[in-house]
Amino acid sequence: MELKEIYGQTNVMGKFSKLPISFEVFPPKDGNISELFEQVRILYKYNPALVSLTYGANGSNRDLAYELLQMFIHLGLNVMPHFTCVGSSYNMVQGYIREIENLGIENILALRGDLPEDDCLLDFEYANDLVNFIHQKSSLSIGVAGYPECHIECKNIDKDIENLKKKIDAGADAIFTQLFFNNEKFYRYVDKVRAAGINAPIIAGIMPIRSKKQIEKMVSIANVEIPERLKNQLEQFPQNIKKIGVEFAINQCQDLIDNDIAGLHFFTLNHADQTSEILDNIL
Ligand code: FAD
Repeated sequence: MELKEIYGQTNVMGKFSKLPISFEVFPPKDGNISELFEQVRILYKYNPALVSLTYGANGSNRDLAYELLQMFIHLGLNVMPHFTCVGSSYNMVQGYIREIENLGIENILALRGDLPEDDCLLDFEYANDLVNFIHQKSSLSIGVAGYPECHIECKNIDKDIENLKKKIDAGADAIFTQLFFNNEKFYRYVDKVRAAGINAPIIAGIMPIRSKKQIEKMVSIANVEIPERLKNQLEQFPQNIKKIGVEFAINQCQDLIDNDIAGLHFFTLNHADQTSEILDNIL
C-alpha cells in the first residue's frame, strides 16, 4: 500500500483508519537477522501500516538489507526502505529502485544522508534531487525527512522548511519527522509547514528512551531538546530509564493522537519491548 493511500483521504474508512503506525528498524551490526526477525514478529501483531529499514552510509550492509526486505515482505509486511543519495550516481540509484520495485515494494524514504568527510556528492546534492530522480524514473511513493527542531546544518527553521518544500514539489508524498520530545515545538512546526503551502501528511517520529548513551548521542547529532522535567527524571532515576522512556512516550503519543496526528513512526532501535508497551497503552 502506498504512502498516499495510508495517510491520505482514501484511507478514511480503510484498513488503517484508526491511526497508521509504522516501525523503523536497521540491519543489525552483528548480522543477527533471526533476533531482529523475532522483534519484528512481535510488532507484527500491531498491524503496522509500514516497516521502514534504514540505509547505511554509502550502501554499507546493502546485502543484509536486501535479505531483510525479502524476509519482511514474506511475512506480509508493507516495507519502506530508506535510501541515502550521498556518493551515489544516477546509475546506482536507477539500479536500486529497479531492484526494490522488482520485490514489489511501493514506497521509499528518500534522504540525502550525512555528508562524508571527503565531501564526495557525485550526482545528487540534496534530497530534493533524489526525490526528483525517483519521481521521474519510478512509480514509487516517496517519503522524506522533516526536522521539527530544524536540521542541524540549517541556520533557521524557515529556511529548512523552504528546503522541505523543494522535496514536496519534486514529488514527495509524506514527511517522516526526526524524533522529538517537545510536542509544542512539533505543533509549531506543523503550523509553519502548512503556512509554507505544504499539505503532505506529517508523521511524528517517536523514540522511546532506552539508555543514557543513546539519548546523549541523539542530542548531539540531531539537535533534539530534552524537556527539563524529563532530563531531571532521567538523572534522578537512572536505573528506571526504560520505564521512564515508556511512560513519557505514552503521554507524548496520547497528546499527539488527541491533536489528530497523521501517523506515528517508532524508531524501535530493533527492540520490540518498549514500543509494544506504548502501543498497548495508546491503541
Ligand atoms: P536534505 O533534505 O537534503 O537536507 C539537508 C540539509 O540541506 C538541510 O539543512 C536542508 O535545510 C538543506 N537543504 C536541503 N535542500 C536544499 C537545497 N536545495 N538548497 C540548499 N539547502 C538545502 N540517515 C542515514 O544515513 N540512513 C537512514 O536510513 C536515515 N534515515 C532517516 C530517517 C528519518 C525519519 C530522518 C529524520 C533522518 C534519517 N537519516 C538517515 C538522517 C539523514 O540522512 C540526515 O539527517 C541528513 O543529514 C539529511 O538528510 P535529508 O534527507 O533530510 O537531507
